Amino acid sequence: MTVKRQSPEELLGLNKFMVDEEEPHIVLDKTICAKCKDKPCLVVCPAVLYTLKGEEINFEYAGCLECGTCRVMCKNKGIIKWQYPRGSFGVSFRCG
Ligand code: SF4
Ligand code: SF4
Repeated sequence: MTVKRQSPEELLGLNKFMVDEEEPHIVLDKTICAKCKDKPCLVVCPAVLYTLKGEEINFEYAGCLECGTCRVMCKNKGIIKWQYPRGSFGVSFRCG
């Protein structure tokens, strides 16, 4: 039997998301983020949902794996809301 190795991008692409357009489950206060020097969210999110747009933090909650890593690593409290998505919304893992 041969096992096909898949890249992280391929594996992440197997997940299915029901995005709650009305109620984001993670919300940032960008004025706090602007003062955050290290910005660990840029490197710890496995889905790479935190990016920089110029100097400003850009965040996209669609595609969130609900792992909670950003919540743990955000020491400057720029994440002002983190909760699991409402029922029927969020990620469905289709591999593993
Ligand atoms: S919960 Fe996990 S996947 Fe979702 S934004 Fe935070 S670090 Fe990224
Ligand atoms: S770690 Fe928290 S406070 Fe710092 S930039 Fe990221 S979300 Fe904002």
